[in-house]
Amino acid sequence: MILNVERVVTGPFQENSYLAWQDGTSSCIVIDPGDDPEKITQSIEHHDLNPIAIVNTHAHLDHIGGVSELKTHFNISFYLHHQEKPVLDGYARDCAFFGMTPKETPEVDHWFGSEDLSIGDFEIQLVETPGHTPGGTCLVVNNHVFTGDTIFAGSVGRTDLPGGNWNTLCNSLVKAMKEIPGDFILHPGHGPDTTLEQEMSQNPFLIPLLNRVNS
Ligand SMILES: [Zn+2]
Ligand SMILES: [Zn+2]
Repeated sequence: MILNVERVVTGPFQENSYLAWQDGTSSCIVIDPGDDPEKITQSIEHHDLNPIAIVNTHAHLDHIGGVSELKTHFNISFYLHHQEKPVLDGYARDCAFFGMTPKETPEVDHWFGSEDLSIGDFEIQLVETPGHTPGGTCLVVNNHVFTGDTIFAGSVGRTDLPGGNWNTLCNSLVKAMKEIPGDFILHPGHGPDTTLEQEMSQNPFLIPLLNRVNS
């Protein structure tokens, strides 16, 4: 099946919110609606889509700012990894740290762990990749991967925010390189799409870990 993916860049952090839908259907999942819920809604309407769930890679403030409003507007459930609870609980504190006014903290309807998610037409394989945050997760749908702030084109997530850990992130990056096929399309939380093949050949943070991938 072909998965259609639309990126909507939102908010002051230029965060990538994504809409994903199977070709020929209108059911869509919303991934990491970070801000500007009206802009995301416009894109949903433009593509004539019917949102059925919001699924997040992690709960940082730049990834959850649109969740509450979209949840209410479309009457849909919000899915988040259970280890993200402390990050979600720190939302107002983190907004203050960045000098931002917090929106409503979204309520989580489904806390997930490592088991794959089945939502409507979507089978979502979860690859837990803690390190940037304690419950950071890569969401694999068909041959597409929503990596949140774990891997970017040319970089990886910062680990200096509460709950971040560099060694944990390195272990997660090795795991991702082992488990996710190199030609799958990666959709990071910021910046352009990439693939693991491409990153493994040029990402300065992944290259030093390559000796651990085949061992
Ligand atoms: Zn983040
Ligand atoms: Zn982010």
